[in-house]
Amino acid sequence: MNCIFCGIADGSVKSQLIYEDEDVVAFKDLNPQAPTHLLLIPRKHIARLDQASEDDALLLGKVLLVAKKLAQQFDLKDFRLVTNNGKGAGQSVDHLHFHLMAGRRFLWPAG
Ligand code: AMP
Repeated sequence: MNCIFCGIADGSVKSQLIYEDEDVVAFKDLNPQAPTHLLLIPRKHIARLDQASEDDALLLGKVLLVAKKLAQQFDLKDFRLVTNNGKGAGQSVDHLHFHLMAGRRFLWPAG
């Protein structure tokens, strides 16, 4: 399997790494859409959220808690955490990832 985010997770693809532990990796988005724009991924290759299973419950919780930890670390008061599930929703990389964005006003509903 040729997955760019698996490459980032295993270090074979260069990235601006922000955080890593045994299960979760966070790095700067290459094409930031906000002053702070990080991507959080599980090391495990899950293509998108609707491919996750009950066995991934703890892992998904860990990703969310890393988002909280990074928001605290970067002193983000308001932030948006979003995942695009499927091409129609804007997903372009088939490895589950959460965008953690902050530093500008966000519209709702999202475009
Ligand atoms: P999505 O469109 O929701 O699948 O988001 C994929 C995100 O990955 C986009 O915001 C891209 O800018 C970002 N991206 C793609 N390749 C890389 C990379 N090698 N390093 C960092 N970010 C990337």
